[in-house]
Amino acid sequence: MPIYEYACQSCGNAFELLVRSDTRIECPSCHSSQLDKQLSVFATAESASARQPAPFASPCGSCGNPDGPGACQLQ
Ligand SMILES: [Zn+2]
Repeated sequence: MPIYEYACQSCGNAFELLVRSDTRIECPSCHSSQLDKQLSVFATAESASARQPAPFASPCGSCGNPDGPGACQLQ
């Protein structure tokens, strides 16, 4: 379940909210629905790991193909 960070445009309160389909999104302080959605902690971590180099960029021979180095044609 995603947790989103919001910043209230009305009172400036920043808060995290666990959002379900039936969640009413409003500021817990002033109950305004004028909110700026921030990047969630989870989404930031996932996009960071997605930028890692692809595994097949490593030299062939480390892929574990049982036919031996080069057999996977990725050299
Ligand atoms: Zn507010």
